[in-house]
Amino acid sequence: MSIAQPADPIRTLALPGGAEIDIALRRSARARHLLIRIDDSNGEVELVLPKRAALRDGIAFAHAKAGWIEKRLDALPPAVPFRDGTVLPLLGEPLALRKPVNGARRTRRVDGALMVPGGEAEFAGRVRRWLIAEARREIGRRAEELARRVERPIERLAIRDPATRWGSCSAAGGLSFSWRLILAPPAVLDYVVAHEIAHLRELNHSARFWSLVAGLVGEHEAERAWLRRNGTRLRRYG
Ligand SMILES: [Zn+2]
Repeated sequence: MSIAQPADPIRTLALPGGAEIDIALRRSARARHLLIRIDDSNGEVELVLPKRAALRDGIAFAHAKAGWIEKRLDALPPAVPFRDGTVLPLLGEPLALRKPVNGARRTRRVDGALMVPGGEAEFAGRVRRWLIAEARREIGRRAEELARRVERPIERLAIRDPATRWGSCSAAGGLSFSWRLILAPPAVLDYVVAHEIAHLRELNHSARFWSLVAGLVGEHEAERAWLRRNGTRLRRYG
């Protein structure tokens, strides 16, 4: 079933502070009421219209929400683009992105730097692919070890870039994680992996589930709080 109709054109919206922003309009058969969505990763604003909502009601709604939109956009942490000189917190350790001076062909890590060859246009994509591979390796290693401890197989492990979740576990034993966790401290990565692995046994958030998580990684309140505090910032990279 298709749930979204083709997107309507982009509209401009004047914010109270004087800035003008683009708003993408989207029709949705699932939406029950008018809705403004702000993508924390790139600051893009979207107006979601239920199937039968009048366009002018949607536009009026966006105007009425302009102050709130401005506040949300102002509160976003600054974007951190992947370019020469950017320093990333790889598992909590600084990793500087660098263009190699010689004709190196492969993206590789040299001490505290990631040497990224090629042109300007490929730079960010190469960094992202390298981080995804690194996330797959670090998460895969932890997941395998913990899966052995709960005596449940991992049917599939996917590394993705979901908008809101850090990890998920399906009833069929498929795990999925955000590659962005590789930019969090190791204890946070440990916690998220333990959380999803515990779901292989308890597909719920019951007291039994949480004691299973504690059995795998010990105390984890600080790590959950870290994600609540820093989650938006993690989504501003790249
Ligand atoms: Zn959960």
